[in-house]
Amino acid sequence: MTYVIQEPCVGVKDTACVEVCPVDCIHEAEPKEDTSNLPMFIHPEECIDCAACEPECPVDAIRQEDESEDRWIQLNALLADEYDNS
Ligand code: SF4
Ligand code: SF4
Repeated sequence: MTYVIQEPCVGVKDTACVEVCPVDCIHEAEPKEDTSNLPMFIHPEECIDCAACEPECPVDAIRQEDESEDRWIQLNALLADEYDNS
């Protein structure tokens, strides 16, 4: 299980979640192109499911994987792949 960042993060990206993550697994999308329409992402293989980030988000953009829409799960995974391969 992992946590997933959803659409409301786009345009906010205040990094409040990054500040509390104990394993530093929340990142900005790699700037290969314009990232202004992308949310931050949680690396699904690094997240330890501690839930520390969820209450910190001012726009309620962070949810558990099983409460997230597939498109956001897939986007977080895609951005994590790009991050790993950059
Ligand atoms: S659930 Fe915990 S480990 Fe996972 S992204 Fe949030 S703060 Fe980081
Ligand atoms: S706290 Fe919420 S809005 Fe801020 S960067 Fe994290 S997910 Fe995005």
